[in-house]
Amino acid sequence: MTASLDIFDELNAEIAKALEKSNLRKKAANLKRQAYDTTIGRRVREKAMLEYRETLALIEIENWKPVGTAALFTEQQCDGCGSVHRVFLQFMEIQQHKSRATSRRWLRVPIPNPYLPREVVIQPNKTHICPACCDEHGFDMTKASFLGISATALAVSDNYLQGDINAPSEIG
Ligand SMILES: [Zn+2]
Repeated sequence: MTASLDIFDELNAEIAKALEKSNLRKKAANLKRQAYDTTIGRRVREKAMLEYRETLALIEIENWKPVGTAALFTEQQCDGCGSVHRVFLQFMEIQQHKSRATSRRWLRVPIPNPYLPREVVIQPNKTHICPACCDEHGFDMTKASFLGISATALAVSDNYLQGDINAPSEIG
């Protein structure tokens, strides 16, 4: 008896979920219509556009399921001495699209989900100097100065172009 009730409960939950999704789609369609309706005031249209985007985001969340969790590291490969150094960057949740199984996305999360399988992802980067060889270029690691602890974690910056310290000098 309990088992058959469970099946109905699950079925009802599925129906409720499907209804909620179709209601969200209807809501999104209405908001979009309002947002582009030039016969109504600008403020109302702007509010509708904001709500339209929020509703789309809610629909989008429903399309993905978490399938794994990853620890992302960056790897610094020194072309000066060949050493490799790894630094942790962030945790990420791996999500799979419910209707397109080949579509995956990685979302940064503060803490990895304890119930998902775990994996390591490494983003390799090239460098021309590293902690193992900087003394060869006159930088003494044993006399390093320490700055205050950074409030933000290390992230890869895409607007820094590193010069090649091993290339023939252009100065002098
Ligand atoms: Zn090196």
